[in-house]
Amino acid sequence: MTVSRGRDSLALPGPTTVPHEVLQAMQRPAVDIYGEELTAVTDSCLDDLRRVFRTEQGRTYIYIANGHGAWEAALSNVLTRGDKILALESGRFAVGWGEMAEPLGVEMEVLEAEPQRAVSPEALEQRLRADSAGEIKAILVVQVDTASGIVNDIPALGAAIEASGHGALFMVDAIASLGSMPFEMDGWGVDVAVAGAQKGLMMTPGLSFIAARERALAAHANAGLRTRYWDWTVREGDLHYMKYCGTPPVHLLFGLRKSLDMLFDEGLENAFRRHALLAGATQAAVERWSQGGALAFNVPEPAERSPTVTTILMDDPALSRLLDWCYEVCNVSLGIGLGPLGGHAFRIAHMGHVNAPMTLGTLGAIETGLAALDIPHGKAGVSAAVDYLGSRLKA
Ligand SMILES: *Cc1c(COP(=O)(O)O)cnc(C)c1O
Repeated sequence: MTVSRGRDSLALPGPTTVPHEVLQAMQRPAVDIYGEELTAVTDSCLDDLRRVFRTEQGRTYIYIANGHGAWEAALSNVLTRGDKILALESGRFAVGWGEMAEPLGVEMEVLEAEPQRAVSPEALEQRLRADSAGEIKAILVVQVDTASGIVNDIPALGAAIEASGHGALFMVDAIASLGSMPFEMDGWGVDVAVAGAQKGLMMTPGLSFIAARERALAAHANAGLRTRYWDWTVREGDLHYMKYCGTPPVHLLFGLRKSLDMLFDEGLENAFRRHALLAGATQAAVERWSQGGALAFNVPEPAERSPTVTTILMDDPALSRLLDWCYEVCNVSLGIGLGPLGGHAFRIAHMGHVNAPMTLGTLGAIETGLAALDIPHGKAGVSAAVDYLGSRLKA
């Protein structure tokens, strides 16, 4: 017996739910790629991405690629073979980014956070002070680590770099956070920021974005790893197709235009608040369920829990049974554990085009599964989520 008919419920941390308005904006014939309509869409998206990254003077670039493509693009535009980078690891993704650099001939050093903790600004400052020869050319970090569910304190890390007086570029992956929580490229001293379409920006997979500020553009001028396809300078060319180094992704651009419009219609601050509330509701439920002993937060420190994804520790066989049950019986797709958390965790996304009924529905399906499978858990998790939202949304 199942209760799975009705809308598919995707609670994965990417791809996330794409709004109907965005899908509809893409449902149209292709247009002339030299025509004014499409050129205007490109120009407005490049400008509006600066609004989302919050940079006045930074340059923005749109790649027909997933986040991994933008990772490689960012590295190849500012580094030279033989350079060294420092990856600040708080889960999986900073090292994943750095691993893209190694085949390019770049040496990666990893600064590990304490287990299940965010990157320490003090540890970063100390490491940079020890690098008196200035060997480290760039620092890679993620704002939200989508595997661990950790949010790093990007302004504090920026301040630590500044305090150290070190000249390395500050490169931030905001793929699982841009549009869902504050990001202040100029205010926080970020030199290169990377984002993807299919997480908080509510688009289909297929596009990724880079913003680069002055110091990154200066490094770019002498970077030895530049290749024509990713090259920022080539993409500054006058002709429209040069912005994409070839045919523009016509339909994806129509979709992106619509998703950015929707984000601005809501207002960035409102979108941030919505994510914080839905994350809080999710955490309220997980807190209760944890009392049964079969599951627990991956991130013990509440302030270090991401507003976009919650990672929950749980072991097989109960873990697999719960995930299968949620999908087969309730049509809810949850995120699996990544890397060393494979088989030891699952993830609930509350990211992008998501509202209270979607999050409460996901939590309700999980709690029903815990009960149906006799997995020990504290009761009334959904009720705790409802109380949390009710108390914060009082009329
Ligand atoms: C999803 C994700 C990536 C990788 O993006 P893809 O589009 O899957 O290549 C990188 N970093 C973070 C933080 C992510 O969440």
